[in-house]
Amino acid sequence: MSRVKNILGRLFSKPMHIALFSAMLSLFTIVGYNIPLLRGVMESTEEGANGIIILCSIAIILFAVHMLLIYLLIYCGRIVGKTIIAISLLFNALALYFINGYEVLITSEMMGNVFNTRYSEASGYFSLSGILYFVLLGIVPCVWLFKTKIDYGKLKQMGTTALASLGIILLVGVANLSNTLWIDRNVPRLGSIILPWSYTVNTVRYYNSWKRLNAKEILLPDATITNDNKEVCVVIIGESARSKNFSLYGYERETNPLLKQDSVVTLHAESAATYTTAGVKAIIDHQPTNKLYEILPNYLYRSGVDVVWRTSNWGEPPLHIANIEKVATLKAKYPDTDERYDGILVEGLAERIKSSDKSKVLVVLHTSTSHGPTYYKKYPAEFERFTPVCTTVEMAEADHDELINAYDNTILYTDYIVHTTIEELRTLEGWRVTMLFVSDHGESLGENNLYMHGMPKSMAPAEQFDIPFIVWHSDSERTIKDIELAEQYCVFHTVLSSLSIESEIYNAKYDIFNNTNN
Ligand SMILES: [Zn+2]
Repeated sequence: MSRVKNILGRLFSKPMHIALFSAMLSLFTIVGYNIPLLRGVMESTEEGANGIIILCSIAIILFAVHMLLIYLLIYCGRIVGKTIIAISLLFNALALYFINGYEVLITSEMMGNVFNTRYSEASGYFSLSGILYFVLLGIVPCVWLFKTKIDYGKLKQMGTTALASLGIILLVGVANLSNTLWIDRNVPRLGSIILPWSYTVNTVRYYNSWKRLNAKEILLPDATITNDNKEVCVVIIGESARSKNFSLYGYERETNPLLKQDSVVTLHAESAATYTTAGVKAIIDHQPTNKLYEILPNYLYRSGVDVVWRTSNWGEPPLHIANIEKVATLKAKYPDTDERYDGILVEGLAERIKSSDKSKVLVVLHTSTSHGPTYYKKYPAEFERFTPVCTTVEMAEADHDELINAYDNTILYTDYIVHTTIEELRTLEGWRVTMLFVSDHGESLGENNLYMHGMPKSMAPAEQFDIPFIVWHSDSERTIKDIELAEQYCVFHTVLSSLSIESEIYNAKYDIFNNTNN
């Protein structure tokens, strides 16, 4: 016993230079906590030199960033700095236990779960290996951290170390500019296992989204439902669907074999933006605005309409309605349906509408079918009609024709989804039905070497904002206006008139129907 004490005493008696100490602790954060990350990087890169470059670059950047932060924290904060580091070591140990043992991804939703977990639920996760993780990877490094005497060195040395670390980070960053596509694709998943950043960043993100969720939207003037007739609107929000690849819009390939028989009306339309959150907001907003006004589903729900939001996507403003059905909810309801594809959103739709206790129903289906880069994964095998398809996720490397084939198959599947929705709606007897399919934005597929979407609209090519706006309705008395260019804001006002709802906010200019009574 006294021998152990002796060894420990000698180990901790000599002060260690802060640079060496920071380097050792930084190395430990990589080896001790970030093996799942490095494994994930290896799995997501293709074999060969580029994969090794990415792996080494990430290890070097992690080392340099942690070295810099540990150095600064200890130099400037002394005991306070050490305490902050100790807390992160303890959380790292716990997080690693969950990542390894439960394959958890530490996303902002996951942090939400953590903050909303009661002790009784949390205690179910504790096990012997959990305690071992906590002691060996949490407590032991903390003891070393506090027991080691530090030689703080000179201010000049701190400056040199900081500059050197920053230089390395910058150099490695610049050397990896050609890997931005890889980074773009993998950051969401790999970012959720980088310790300690995953839980730090996602705690902040969770807090921000919680704040946004609780932000007060500006209420619109009260609306009135003017009759008891049974009326339903189904709004399908498309994902990255561009009108250029719809044969309904003149594409030479037959990508709409089903819809062309459905007597639908197509409008020439542009999206308000080129990315999901702004596109979806415009579809359910009453006018162009940066403010958070009451969105269509919330407004109608408050006005007494039965509102159903089914989604395989994300990015909409906060919903304050009773019926939000995500894929997991729908899978539990319809266990025989394949939850990988958007067909599940249409399952049992007519039955759901018929069983409503309200005379006015709004259903929104927020789909995700044409979302890149893995277009080939977004439709069932029987829709792989244009072949061969591109299966690489490195779009710039992809064969252009194969990329178009994969994308066109998603449009073919979208054709099926919208057609199936119409088929469901045809079974509703005694209901006046309006169906609108509008995409959130378009997509670039290699034109001018651009891929996907998200360029500022003023600079973006037309492919990123020319969107399909497809209408089907059951009332032969109603006629659609001759509209030169429809906007996403048309949805809001068209839904109001289609459900016979009167409101000061209604703007006939945006209504795609000729309404004599409005
Ligand atoms: Zn989108």
